[in-house]
Amino acid sequence: MTRNARFDILFEPVRIGPKTAPNRFFQVPHASGMTNANPHVRAAFRGMKAEGGWGVVSTGACSVHPTSDDSPFPFASLWDEADVRAHAVMTEAVHAHGALAAVELWHGGAAAVNRTTRHAPLSPSGVPWMATHVGFMTSARPRLMDRDDVRALIRWHAEAALRAERAGFDILYVYAGMGYLPYQFLLADYNRRSDAYGGSPANRVRLVAELIDAVREATHGRCAVALRISLQELRSRPSDTAPSEAHEVIALLKDAPDLFDVKMDYSATDCAPSRFAAEGSHEPVVDFVKTITDKPVVGVGRFTSPDTMVGMIRRGVLDLIGGARPSIADPFLPRKIDEGREDDIRECIGCNICISSWHDGVWVRCTQNPTAGEEWRRGWHPEIVRRDGAGSVLVVGGGPAGLEAALTLGRRGFRVTLAEARREFGGRLLWESRLPGLRQWFRVADYRLGQLRRMANVSLHAESPMGPGDVHDFGADHVVVATGARWTANLCGANEIPTMPIEAPRVHTPDDIAAGAALEGPVAVFDFDNYYMGSAIAEHLASQGLAVTYVTSAGAAQAWGIMTNEQPQVHQAFRRAGIASRTLQIVESFDGERLVLAHIFSGERQEIAARSLVIAGQREGGSPLFEALRASVPSVVLTGDANAPGAIAHAVWQAHRAARELGAAAEPVRRDAPFALRDIAPFGEAAQ
Ligand code: ADP
Ligand code: SF4
Repeated sequence: MTRNARFDILFEPVRIGPKTAPNRFFQVPHASGMTNANPHVRAAFRGMKAEGGWGVVSTGACSVHPTSDDSPFPFASLWDEADVRAHAVMTEAVHAHGALAAVELWHGGAAAVNRTTRHAPLSPSGVPWMATHVGFMTSARPRLMDRDDVRALIRWHAEAALRAERAGFDILYVYAGMGYLPYQFLLADYNRRSDAYGGSPANRVRLVAELIDAVREATHGRCAVALRISLQELRSRPSDTAPSEAHEVIALLKDAPDLFDVKMDYSATDCAPSRFAAEGSHEPVVDFVKTITDKPVVGVGRFTSPDTMVGMIRRGVLDLIGGARPSIADPFLPRKIDEGREDDIRECIGCNICISSWHDGVWVRCTQNPTAGEEWRRGWHPEIVRRDGAGSVLVVGGGPAGLEAALTLGRRGFRVTLAEARREFGGRLLWESRLPGLRQWFRVADYRLGQLRRMANVSLHAESPMGPGDVHDFGADHVVVATGARWTANLCGANEIPTMPIEAPRVHTPDDIAAGAALEGPVAVFDFDNYYMGSAIAEHLASQGLAVTYVTSAGAAQAWGIMTNEQPQVHQAFRRAGIASRTLQIVESFDGERLVLAHIFSGERQEIAARSLVIAGQREGGSPLFEALRASVPSVVLTGDANAPGAIAHAVWQAHRAARELGAAAEPVRRDAPFALRDIAPFGEAAQ
């Protein structure tokens, strides 16, 4: 197929200083959970995006010096020759497909508290970032940088720039965003200095300008220099001479870098979940930059629609279409647009499981793209599987797992029949995607159904509940059981271990509500699952006019939502909807009128009036169908939530793996290893 002419503009080359990006698709720096300890894993992950048509492919944050150590969060470094070697594997993988490679040189300042290297954190004025959640919370407070520290910071950037060029990078970032050190100089809240680096906006941008100059001079103008800058707070600050401080700062820097990469200030707004933010949500903050500078501008907004991308360029908001999550969900997004295959794009659903991977300290995982992070370890390609399938497969269950299994088995060449009991395919997503804000999650089913309906070797059968006899009668060579999990009515004890179901009138599970149970208010929702189900049901019920109290054993609503950037907005949504919230409580008893809660630490009791209780707690997998078949069917696999209930990402990954391995030898799993200085001859430079 050929490209639609209205998307031609996306494939124009763009000059970035001394380099030229082959098109406007720019994979901006984003966390991958991959560090210099896994150079081949990282190279394959980034290289896949270049293969998929991204014209520029960037690293994540890359520390310039051991005084910027983000552990236990995964981060890259450019401290020595071993690091150069680790990054060179990535730049080679990116260049192999004609893309430019960019590195995000990074110093975290007060936000990187050096848990491993144990240097005192650096900051413009000794102002800490006192985050209150695990992983970020710290007892270390930063020290104030003197003039020698400022000079050292500039030198570290210059030295890292030289190493970056040796590693093969084309574009070198100065990173003044997201609360990190150069940004701390820009924002008056952090910067209370009275020297040439503090006070007026002209003084506060001085460090950033000097860093840009130092990086450019170190590489003698051979590499392009990009400035990544967060503008959300600056745009909210008034200015005497411009519409906002952000306008003033951009005007002062307008000729300094070869490229502006513009973004928000906080992970929860920068990488906002689709539940609370639409595609293009950064535009109101970053839309002015191109009116001030002639340099190219890149920005993100979870863009998956090529028409939206074209609109961003034609309306003069951006020159390059930045992608982080859309490039994870579909590394081949540009190539598909180029080939006139927009319908094949595996659109990001905005669930933020990917960002949770970074918070977990592991390689990126993606709900839509099960191959993300597995390109090297398992050799998985997002678009290609071995075409070695012979014979027939019956897949039972048309939820995310069954759909993924059917798709991958179909691509392998099996004759696939997918049997689903209900009238529609989509499984848990049929109802969950109707909960407030979760509509885009149905893309998981839509993408797979769109592909499956075009495959001649796949047949889809709705309204086909399968019992053991039906499966035997069907007589497929292989059977995949993906029949999902059920929510239980189990409560939990003060140790949060699930106990027994509660016996009382009007007790409901999420499955009951999905099935249409009518609830009497006031309603209490007890959540010890801690992901989205409890809070989304509370919002759903409140939107029906019911009085809702949300109760959780955790210290905050949707406790695990801190990992997916949802938690702040969940609290905001509760407030908007008038949902009362009780934290650190377990349900002790319920009689259909009164709910007795106990504080999980002190045991202190409180009572609230409730006529219905919804419990979003434990899910149970397992499958009677699988148990009935396993002795009599030679090739039968249990997968998805029925195998182990979890996030949709886990179900999709399990099903993908099961489908790749069905009837084949187990795939080899490779272990990566870091390059060490002792492996480099002659012995490299000292790291500290
Ligand atoms: P997963 O996330 O693992 O895909 P879901 O609960 O989303 O799990 O989907 C499981 C699907 O399996 C549901 O759509 C359900 O209707 C279907 N299903 C369950 N049991 C059977 C069965 N015996 N025959 C056909 N479909 C079934
Ligand atoms: Fe998008 Fe979710 Fe994949 Fe992240 S995990 S890239 S938000 S689909």
